[in-house]
Amino acid sequence: MKVLVINCGSSSLKYELFETVSEQSLAHGIAERVVVGGGREASLRHYVAGRQPVVMKGEMPDHEVAVGYVLSALTDPEHGVISDLGEIAAVGHRVVHGGERFAESVLIDDEVIAAIEQFSELAPLHNPPNLQGIRACRRRLPDLPMVAVFDTAFHQTMPQHAYMYGLPYEFYEKYGIRRYGFHGTSHRYVSEIAAQVLAQRGIPAQQQRIITCHLGNGCSMAAVAGGKCLDTTMGFTPLEGLVMGTRCGDLDPAIVPFLAEVLDADPHEVDSILNKKSGLLGISGLTNDMRDLLQAAHEGNSRARLAIDVFCYRVRKYIGTYTAVLGGVDAVVFTAGIGENNPEIREQCLEGLACLGLHLDSERNEDPSIRGQVADVSTADSPARILVIPTNEELLIARDTAAIVVALQSA
Ligand code: ADP
Repeated sequence: MKVLVINCGSSSLKYELFETVSEQSLAHGIAERVVVGGGREASLRHYVAGRQPVVMKGEMPDHEVAVGYVLSALTDPEHGVISDLGEIAAVGHRVVHGGERFAESVLIDDEVIAAIEQFSELAPLHNPPNLQGIRACRRRLPDLPMVAVFDTAFHQTMPQHAYMYGLPYEFYEKYGIRRYGFHGTSHRYVSEIAAQVLAQRGIPAQQQRIITCHLGNGCSMAAVAGGKCLDTTMGFTPLEGLVMGTRCGDLDPAIVPFLAEVLDADPHEVDSILNKKSGLLGISGLTNDMRDLLQAAHEGNSRARLAIDVFCYRVRKYIGTYTAVLGGVDAVVFTAGIGENNPEIREQCLEGLACLGLHLDSERNEDPSIRGQVADVSTADSPARILVIPTNEELLIARDTAAIVVALQSA
């Protein structure tokens, strides 16, 4: 079955077409500078394995036009991978916020769309463009089943003591203020692979205790017991938890009114500082890109070094925290841009954690041939595994979509 996966941001649209039986990716790409009302020139970059990438330029005043470009690219006689849109069986959409309603992926109908709209209040930057993508696809491909896969869904198994804040209870009831967590599709994807690795080593699925570290531009961790998420570092919004590229992570909330006062700023300005000017960028004063930070640190830049130290310390602290949450640890997983690609950061995050049974094999950790592979970088006799696992959120969205459509067909 061919499934098209769509991930809409405010001005971008990422897509990937899968053959779900073989789990082969047929084509992927991104439309950028999709701007309401047009204006700037938008472009679509279309990639097919073994071929030169293709760039198409044009006006994309909304996501519906962008979806039109995607469908043209997929069916293009020269650059395409299918001859007819009828070959696409279903569309899977990434949706950021599913609130408390969605603990798993669902078939999209009018009621689901209304619920996603309702949760836009909780994710004002993400759910509206996700919805635009859904509506655009419904108009362009009206006969196809569509599935929503939520970033929050995997974390819905968190117990109430983990997701409540120490705030008056009525704020939870009235405004839905609680911890939701994000990156759930990635945490679920890599924890499922880690579970297979542990099962092969004789640890039964129900007993497995896994800590997943998604370290990319956005960063989060999850504590997973027997396949269920017990806690995660992101909260009501993706701002909580780890120090990220431009986000501050955990903070004393009293800093917010303090900053508002000393900067004579309104809440939105403070929020923007915490989201866009903090984290690695804010501490270093240089960049949010870990590669450039590492280079600067190696050249002796002390603020770059400090930013990296704060970043790794926070990960280490949460590995300790989650080991306590899980009552021990069988595997720590590193994934996403930084986690998959940088041995130095992995090593620093794990410093001093042999006490938890995490023994790193430094040589294997630094072996460039593990790139893009599932790799065990712990020593043979390490009590717990240290795994590097490339994430693939799009594939999980395609899998969920295919499973729901197959169930629908056989119902
Ligand atoms: P996103 O969260 O946007 O999907 P990614 O998962 O692609 O982001 O991660 C982006 C981050 O990964 C950037 O900070 C980038 O510097 C970092 N990164 C990518 N490759 C490396 C590398 N080899 N070493 C260190 N950091 C890397």
